[in-house]
This record gives sequence, structure tokens and C-alpha cells, in this order.
Amino acid sequence: VLTRSQTPGSNIMIFHPTKEEFKDFSRYVAYMESQGAHRAGMAKVIPPKDWKARRTYDDIDDLVIPAPIQQVVTGESGLFTQYNIQKKPMSVREFRRTANTDKFCNPRYVEFEELERKYWRNLTFNPPLYGADINGTLYDPDVSEWNMGHLNTILDLVEKDSGIKVKGVITPFLYFGMWKSTFAWHTEDMDLYSVNYLHFGEPKSWYVVPPEHGKRLERLAKGFFPGSAQSCEAFLRHKMTLISPSILRKYGIPLEKVTQEAGEFIVTFPFAYHAGFNHGFNCAESTNFATQRWIDYGKQAALCSCRKDMVKISMDVFVRKFQPERYKLWKAGKDNAPIDHSKVTLEVAELLTDEKVQAEERGELSNWTETISQAEEGSERPAEQGGGERAAEREGGERAVTETEKTDNETGETQMITANADRGETPTEKTESGERETENTEC
Ligand SMILES: [Zn+2]
Repeated sequence: VLTRSQTPGSNIMIFHPTKEEFKDFSRYVAYMESQGAHRAGMAKVIPPKDWKARRTYDDIDDLVIPAPIQQVVTGESGLFTQYNIQKKPMSVREFRRTANTDKFCNPRYVEFEELERKYWRNLTFNPPLYGADINGTLYDPDVSEWNMGHLNTILDLVEKDSGIKVKGVITPFLYFGMWKSTFAWHTEDMDLYSVNYLHFGEPKSWYVVPPEHGKRLERLAKGFFPGSAQSCEAFLRHKMTLISPSILRKYGIPLEKVTQEAGEFIVTFPFAYHAGFNHGFNCAESTNFATQRWIDYGKQAALCSCRKDMVKISMDVFVRKFQPERYKLWKAGKDNAPIDHSKVTLEVAELLTDEKVQAEERGELSNWTETISQAEEGSERPAEQGGGERAAEREGGERAVTETEKTDNETGETQMITANADRGETPTEKTESGERETENTEC
């Protein structure tokens, strides 16, 4: 039996797959979309009891974090820029001991809102370390369910087609966190899906903007950081921009929060802007994946225009294989229909077909055929305008496959403290009412 639950007041859905349901990753993601999980931009998945990614974590103390970063945050009033200072390699043992010192450990709190307030009040002080973007996995090799080393989604076509393994996108990355270590507002590379598993330790809290409102967040961020916006068409991909939830709420951007505990998965959906922070010492693993629904997102993803080493995936193989009838149009740069973020992935039709077969085996009369053709029609339907948003104008032309190294899954590039935040500039985006409001000082 498929079960799910939802925390009151949140649209983020929580799923509890059975052992059986947990076996087929892509199928379960399609099921989640059939339940509308993608509309919030993020969902939580709690694996079946008894499932383990790894038998023990007692043997990883000597694992090396090759490039820990110190996260220096500057800014005020809910608007911040984060700079990464690369530190020398350290072991997980050293990192944990540092994370648990009085200097770096988390403050006492009763409820999440209290810790959250302390995070936004203190993020510019006492910069934490983050052991981020480490190539590797902590999964035992014999774990076949939701194993980030081999999710077997259509994203594997990239490697099959080009021979390029994009690290952290196609392969898993590990993250060792401590209190206040942070991931800035971003969507995934090429606006892919992501899956994140918290192996152990203190929780990780997430903020997410539903994909149908993502363009509003981009406009707001451009207004707050006009210099950055001028230097790069997609500066949020630098993963340096922090905006507090109270600022987003003040400017009318819908926002959800969820806290991931050890042993839980978070799935993010295409074009879901997300950000967040760790409560204390912990370890997470994540990677990207794709479904057929992603292809239109990949074709339209706005990419960083100012850095050479950013992840870029050629969409050619996906369009040729899954949208052959649109290939010529796309090559001519004329395949620019806006994306309907509420549409479910085409793989959902297979779920319904299986249900139909089962219903027939039970001898039940049903209107499954009609339901299935509606599903297929729905997922092929030309996208409609969502929430008054227009998808960014893109040329659909050729995209070269470029570099293989993904250096910035959660944390953005490590760089000297010279970068380009336009602090102190005035936001230009208006609130719904068209009025500018004064900034509050709560954050
Ligand atoms: Zn850029």
C-alpha cells in the first residue's frame, strides 16, 4: 500500500515507501509526481524500516576531507553573500572534533524556530567549516535501493553518449557539516532533480520555493544584487547568495521549510530553488538524476555566463531519443514553449498501465484506458503559462558537452575574498501591491 503524509501547514509531502516500492527508484519518483509532490519543489522520503545505506559508520574516522571550506558570510538585513576559503585537508575525526568544540557546536534550543532565529542572527559570526563536494559514497556496495552510485535514470545517457562522468552530477558527492554550515539559494545544475540522504548526525534544514514561483525569486535576487546580475546571466549558480525567509515572505515569494533527520531522503524537483543549513555535525550524500519531464527543463536552463568551468550538459541525445519529432524545431532554436511546472513526468503513464493490468487480473471493470490516455495527453500537452511567468528566452541551438568536474554542488566555488556582491544596493523588485517596503531588521 502506498502511503504518504504531510506536515500540517506545509505543502512538502512526506512519503513512506514499502520495501517493495523502494526497489525501483525512477518508478517511485513517478509515483511521487502522480501525487503532486513536485509542485512544492521538494519532498521527503523515509525509507522502509530495517533499510540501511551502510552497516556501520564507525570506520570512517580516517576518511580525508580533501578541501574543507570556511564559509565567511557578509551582509545584513536578511541579504548576505557567502565566500569560501579553502583550508588544508583534514580527517573526518578532526572535522568532528572541531564541529563539537564549544566554539563551533550549536546553541541550546527548544523548537526549530528558535534555532532558525539564531542561525539568521549569527551567520556572519564565527565562520563554520564545511567538508563539501567530496567525490565518493558511503553506501555499502551491495545496497541496491536508492544507491546514488547507480540510480539508473535517463541521466545515465550523458555518460553513455559522451563518455563524460560529471562528478557530483552523475556520481555522488559527500558533505560533512557543522552548525551553521550553509548551502546558498540555487537550483541544480541544468535544473536537474537531486536526491540527498542524511547518513548520520544532526539535522539539515531546507528552504524551497515552488518551481512555478522560481522566476519571481530570480527577479527579486537580481534586484537585490544588480551588479552580480549584470556580470552573469545566472549568478545564483555561483551559490553565494543567501536571502532569509522573512525577506522572501516580505516580498511575497512562496516558501516552504522542511527539516531532514538522519536516515531520511530529500528529493528536489527541476527548477526548485532551495537553500539551507546544518544544525550540527552531520554527513550527507547527494547526486542528480533525471526523468523524461526534466528534458524540457534542461533545454531551457539559464546557465552561468561568466565562468568557464560550470556544468553544462548537451541536451542533444535527450531530444533525439525522447523528442525526435521536435528535434529539427529545437535545433532551429524555435522550441521555446514555456514549461508547465504542474505537469507530471511521462513515466507516470507506466504506473497507471501496471495498475490497469492488476485491476484486470482481479477481474475488475475499469476505465483505466481512458485514465492512461489522459495521463499521456497531460504529460505531452504543450505547456501552459504558469502563474503569469514567462520562461526565459533561450536559443535552442547546440550545446557543447564541456568540463567533467563539478566543483560546487552545494557550496559554490571556492575563491578569494574579492568577489562581486553588491551589498548595500537597493532592491528594485516591488511587492504584490507595487509598494516598496522598508526592510525589517529581524534577520
Ligand atoms: Zn556566472
